[in-house]
Amino acid sequence: MIRIDFLGTGNAFTPPGRLHALTLIDEKILIDTPPTLLTQLQRKGMKTSEIEHLLFTHWHADHTFGFPFFMLERKYISDPNGKNNLNIYLRPGGKDKLAELCNIGFPGSLENIGDMADWYEEEKFELPETNWSFERFPVCHTPETDPHGYELTHNTGFKLLHCGDSGPCKEIEERAEHSNIVILEMGMPDIGDFPYHYTPNNVIEFSKKFPKSLILVTHNFASSKNISEGFKIPELPKEVFQLEDGDAIEINQNGEIEIINNS
Ligand SMILES: [Zn+2]
Ligand SMILES: [Zn+2]
Repeated sequence: MIRIDFLGTGNAFTPPGRLHALTLIDEKILIDTPPTLLTQLQRKGMKTSEIEHLLFTHWHADHTFGFPFFMLERKYISDPNGKNNLNIYLRPGGKDKLAELCNIGFPGSLENIGDMADWYEEEKFELPETNWSFERFPVCHTPETDPHGYELTHNTGFKLLHCGDSGPCKEIEERAEHSNIVILEMGMPDIGDFPYHYTPNNVIEFSKKFPKSLILVTHNFASSKNISEGFKIPELPKEVFQLEDGDAIEINQNGEIEIINNS
């Protein structure tokens, strides 16, 4: 069985009722490190030392500024003897950026992060001791953040496309055709032209093009359902599921998908 937990589903502004977007796969593969990730893992009943693989999409703060907290908790609380392996997958130059963040945030306490993990810059990788491999691909987002998405393939053949932060682009559409699930960000409402984010209208167009994929929307600009302040959740086709914090999906051996609504 595959399980994917959505520990946060908001954009950078944490709209009411949402924390920053954060995806956890099979309770050991984490995509990005938003600033409040310790709270988000605690809500799931987990510690940072249980994360074996950490994948980075790009260098915006809502995806990276939790990294010093992640390493600090691991080093001083949940894995003080450094017994648990951690593999980090990121673009070239990323390790220096993360080391700098740690030195700014907790100077003197995290000088050895280079030794606390194994670092991989490969664009394709089989994640050891999991059933997953990935291929990283460039997406359309603020170029200074070196933005990428991940095509994750399970050894049953099941494909999960995590698009990171991106507006509509060829790289996503080429892969969506053969993906069972597409996790799309919807960072901005339909109030202008935003090439670096999907808006509700972009998501509607996408769902028409790819009717066979289950589309899960995260990094949402809108408030959580049942909250009246802020942006209202847009109406989208029923094939599109707008995730809430705490939602999860499970996929059984036959590839059947169940959405677990915990909110
Ligand atoms: Zn973001
Ligand atoms: Zn971003």
